[in-house]
Parts: sequence; C-alpha cells; structure tokens
Amino acid sequence: MATLEAPAPPRTRAHEAQFRNEPSVDFSRSDSAREMRAALDRVRGQLGREYDLVIGGHRIRTADKIRSVNPARPSQIVGIHQKAGKEHVEPAMQAALTAFESWSRMPLEKRVELLFRAAELLRERKFELMAWLVYEVSKNWAEADADIAETIDFCELYAREALRLENVDALVQLPGEHDQLFYIPLGVGAVIPPWNFPCAIMAGMTLASIVCGNTVILKPSSDSPTIAGKFVEILEEAGMPEGVVNFCPGSGASFGDAIVAHPKTRYIAFTGSREVGLHINKVAADRVPGQIWIKRTILEMGGKDAIVVDADADLDSVVEGVATAAFGFQGQKCSACSRAIIDERISDKFLERLKDRVERISIGDPATNTNMGAVINESSMKSILNYIEIGKREGRLITGGERATKAGEGFFIQPTVIADIQPKSKLEQEEIFGPVLAVIKSRNFEHGLEIANDTEFGLTGAVYTGSREKIEIAKREFHVGNLYINRKCTGAIVGAHPFGGFNMSGTDSKAGGPDYLNLFTQAKSVGEKII
Ligand code: NAD
Repeated sequence: MATLEAPAPPRTRAHEAQFRNEPSVDFSRSDSAREMRAALDRVRGQLGREYDLVIGGHRIRTADKIRSVNPARPSQIVGIHQKAGKEHVEPAMQAALTAFESWSRMPLEKRVELLFRAAELLRERKFELMAWLVYEVSKNWAEADADIAETIDFCELYAREALRLENVDALVQLPGEHDQLFYIPLGVGAVIPPWNFPCAIMAGMTLASIVCGNTVILKPSSDSPTIAGKFVEILEEAGMPEGVVNFCPGSGASFGDAIVAHPKTRYIAFTGSREVGLHINKVAADRVPGQIWIKRTILEMGGKDAIVVDADADLDSVVEGVATAAFGFQGQKCSACSRAIIDERISDKFLERLKDRVERISIGDPATNTNMGAVINESSMKSILNYIEIGKREGRLITGGERATKAGEGFFIQPTVIADIQPKSKLEQEEIFGPVLAVIKSRNFEHGLEIANDTEFGLTGAVYTGSREKIEIAKREFHVGNLYINRKCTGAIVGAHPFGGFNMSGTDSKAGGPDYLNLFTQAKSVGEKII
C-alpha cells in the first residue's frame, strides 16, 4: 500500500472526456461467454481464502471469523474474513483521523486520479469481479455485470462531479469584495452498505466519501465481505494512501453500532433496511461526550415498489416489465416490483400471460447463467417462505409458492405470484425482499395510484398507460423518488436516474446524481474585502 507521501498515480486525460455509462457485456457473443466461464473457473480455484482487516495499512487477524458462503451451494465457502469487534473501533478511528489530516489537504486532482485509476483496474478485472458476485451473492451474469458496470460509473462520475464542485462559486460578487464558496470534507465517515448491490453501493458510498477528502471506516455486510475486500485491493493498487479506507468486516449490531456511536464519527453513509436505518438515525442523534458536531446521516432504506397498469396499456411490455422487475436477482432489489396494481378490466388476461411468462424462468446455480439464483441466506429464505404462507391466506396463489428444491441444495425459492391481494394487507404493505409478487386489482388508473401511494415507503414505481394525461397525473401524484413510465421500475442507470427514495425509503440522497457529493461535504463561504 502507498504511504501518505506517495506521488499521485500518473495523470490521465480521462477527466477531460465526457462521462459515459459503462456498456453492458453481451453474453450472447461466444467470446464474452467464454471469458465469463474462464473467470468463473479461475475464481472457483480461489474460493475459501482468508482475508484480513486492513486498518491504517496494517493487516490484522482476529480469533472470530466471518464465513461468507455461496447461497447456491451453502457448503462452499467463498471467503473467510476477520471479524472486527469493539476493540477495533478505536484503532480504525485513529487510523482514519490520522489519514484525514493529509488526505483532506491533498490537491483534489490527486484524489480524482485515484478514482480514474480505480475505474481502469475495475475494467481490467471486470469478469473476475463478476465471478465473485456470482459465487458470493448468487447474481446471474447480467446482474453481476450491471453491478460492476455501476461501480465503474460511480468512479467516473464522482471524479468528474468533484471537479465540478470545485468550480462552484458564490452566486454574487459584492462590490469591493472577493466572495468565494468552497466545498470542504466532513471528516471520518462510517460506510455501512447492504449485500444486495455488494460492489456498486458499497463502492459508491466509499468513492463519494474519499473523492471529497473524507476518510472511511468501511463495514461491509457479513453476507458479502469478499467483493468489498477485492474493491479495497483495487483502491490500494490504484495508489490509495494507508488509512483512507479502513476495511472492517464485522457484526452490524456490535462493530457497526459502535462506529455509528463514536464521538469522532462525522457522518454515516448507510444503505439497508428501514429498521436498521432508523436505529442508526437514533444512535447518531445522541450526543456523546467528546462529540462537537451533529452527525450527518445519509440513509437509504427499503421499498414496497409498485407498477400501476392502466386498462389501455400494452400487455406484452407490461408482462415483461413486471416479470423482470419482480424476479430479477430473486426480487432482492430495493427497487424490485413487489406489487402489480392492475386495472380490473384487464387483470384476468394479465394474470394468464404473467403465469406463462414466470413459469419459463429458469432457477439454479447462477454460475450456469440461470435466470434466477438463490436468495442470500437461510434466514432470508425462511422469512420469504413465511410471507408466502401469509400470502396464500391473504390471496390466491397463481404460480410458485415453495422452495425450489429441484434447483439444488441452495436457498432457492420459486418465483411466486399471488393474486387478489387487498390493499392494506401484510403482503401489500411489508417489504419481503424476495421473489414474491402481490397482484392487486384497481377500479381505474387513479385508484391504482392511490393504492400505490398508500404505504410508508416511496422508493421506485412505474406506470404503464397510453394516455398522456395519465402520465402527467402520475408524474405529479405518484410519490416515489424514482418514477418510470412505460418501463420497469428496476435498473436505474447512473447519471440518468439519480437514485433515492421518499418517506421511509430514506433520505433521498440521489446516488449517481448532481446533488450526491454535496452530502459528503460542507460548504465554506469566504468574503474578502479587497484592500
Ligand atoms: P440490513 O439493514 O440488514 O443491513 C445493512 C447493513 O447494516 C449491513 O452492513 C449490516 O451489517 C449493518 N447493520 C446491521 N445492524 C446494524 C447496527 N445496529 N448498526 C450499524 N450497522 C448495522 O440490510 P440488508 O439485508 O443488508 O439489505 C437489504 C435492505 O437494504 C432492504 O431493505 C433493501 O430495500 C435495502 N436497500 C435499499 C437501497 C436504497 O437505495 N434505498 C438499496 C439497496 C438495498
């Protein structure tokens, strides 16, 4: 790892080019498919290795371990990780504070170069990183590709955004004064990501932090520490100084809680469930001895996302959009469609077509590129199966409804559709985070929007309608952070769809958008009298 005094990596001209999204891999091409299979073989040979905590550049082993397993083959260990405990909170904080002294003062250009260099390395290792995602969280090839492409996009976009922010100035120059506005870093951040976009979200919150000059204690999810370890390796290779990102897998309830509560933690960037997000908000709000600031919280949480379908909608695209948004990555996206709200005049036809489409979804080990892999772990599987039983009582099972035992020993669940679900029922209100779709009938489009809005969440939503007037109504009335018209409600693209939700879905931070980096900085205004 480089020291704090290390020279910046060689300057590229990358930032002078306009931002473009990383293209997706076309796996129908035989060379791409071959490359992916080769990467899966290579990575298979590296499963089960042990990874260290990295605090201030020191590699540390602990007695307690976290074993990350392949959800599709739970007997296969993907990586063995050290488990940071309360005793690691202080060393991690001290390392981050020490690094902050120089990192925050480093010319912006050097921090920006780190992100561009990381993007290059991510591209070079793209197939390998995708393979890690296949094994660690059971993503199929396209889902793994999207996760890594989004990570590259975050490097490229946040680097450019940091340069843009540096050039923002005071809106008015008073006569006889030189008026300036600077965005300066906050301090040490606790970055606490979920497992479901284990590379993109983990990296996005980390990259936004460090490009702005902050330093980080990164506590990845215990279900996906290996991909986070690989990302930290890439930052090190790209020239990141010691202590800028301190890699600390550990339990949320003990290590996570303790870093949130630490008086020197300046901000918390969290993405995860509503319960944990609210808990963090509460802990962060308590002033503890030695704390001299109000901790900032950037909290992105759950969803109960709906697709509202008008009677005149094109059913072919509706069925495709609903099936993909409900069952892509086993329904484990915060943006997943968990409610299809269908005009009663077309609901029977819709269900007939959807059943046919869903029954063609292949389930199994995603290393073989099935449509659906396994859900993340056993307790998640149990919770989803429990919701399915509730759904069978609250509605009418159309397809699925059980564990997919034929798919293998892993945590496989059949894609499940339950119709005749009533507004306000459990299945309609609670985030399940699995392959379970509730279908609800509406009297008309406006009634559909009313049902869609009637949860405590407000993350993503979509409408399908041929009517311009109804599109305008949806734009005004559908209260979600990310609204899509005549397309599915998943698959936000960096830059095009800044991401973040309303109400209990979070603080609407809009990752991948023009406001995001402001959250990781504080603005300093300087008015200098010209003498
Ligand atoms: P989770 O809330 O269980 O865990 C998220 C992170 O918080 C993990 O790293 C975990 O270890 C940590 N944690 C747990 N308890 C903690 C505590 N007391 N203090 C500090 N940290 C603690 O969520 P998950 O199961 O990893 O992810 C799924 C959830 O994330 C879903 O609700 C999903 O909707 C949400 N999500 C939201 C978005 C978004 O942008 N809004 C994106 C992805 C996922």
